[in-house]
Amino acid sequence: MRVANLAGRLVLVRDGRAVDVEQASGGRFGADPQAVYAEWDAFTAWAADADLPPGEEFDQARLGAPVPAPRQLVAVGLNYRDHAAESGFAVPEGLPPVFTKFVSALSGPVTEVVLPEGGHTDWEVELVAVIGRTARNVAEADAWDHVAGLTVGQDLSERVAQLAGPAPQFSLGKSLPGFAPTGPWVVTPDEFADRDDLELGAAINGEEVQKGRTRDLVFPVPTLIARLSKVITLLPGDLLFTGTPAGVGLGRDPQRWLAPGDELVSHVEGIGELRQSFVSA
Ligand code: ZN
Repeated sequence: MRVANLAGRLVLVRDGRAVDVEQASGGRFGADPQAVYAEWDAFTAWAADADLPPGEEFDQARLGAPVPAPRQLVAVGLNYRDHAAESGFAVPEGLPPVFTKFVSALSGPVTEVVLPEGGHTDWEVELVAVIGRTARNVAEADAWDHVAGLTVGQDLSERVAQLAGPAPQFSLGKSLPGFAPTGPWVVTPDEFADRDDLELGAAINGEEVQKGRTRDLVFPVPTLIARLSKVITLLPGDLLFTGTPAGVGLGRDPQRWLAPGDELVSHVEGIGELRQSFVSA
């Protein structure tokens, strides 16, 4: 099953067409794309049996963030060995560095992003897990049962702000407006042949800059949920950005940053693409 946010309304996406959930369910489920995660089990049970209309064709540019207002957005760094190496850090043990992208940075899949003046804006394609059940002290073996689905995320990062000061400012440098594109939809874990091994990558103006596989995550999705949920409570509708593979601009020689006129396309196998164009401030 795929769910999306079409112009602010929750839709099911089937064969490239959108079925409005509030209309198709006769009001049993509302139009708010965020509220559905509070009753995710009831929603998936309804969707599995519902006799749905064919739905309407739509342009992906009309999609908003599939999960537009999570109570928590948890992001982790240094979760692929090759990216930790290019960033000049050891591979973390126990838990990777954890930070947030403030939710005001969230956007849908097809956007124009303003590059901050004097900044160095970098790209980080990531698999994003959407929490479907409250997770507290969850065992690794049970962790996937707490995931509503997966989506694509771009952890856009302004490196000057991120790395200024005596300690890194991960959350601020990664939370400028539009710096958290997500989408195009949330895909339930049962849709993947192997939910633990998905290709992900990014290209700038058609040139591939990142390519990896989620089987190479140092802390895979179930491990992250198990270890994070020992410390914090993960809530339905929360987002978990799982980290980026090698190939970011920071790790290049010479370093490279996004420039006005660039187009960045990010993908995760079995989900879809994000498409960001960049303009100067
Ligand atoms: Zn990241």
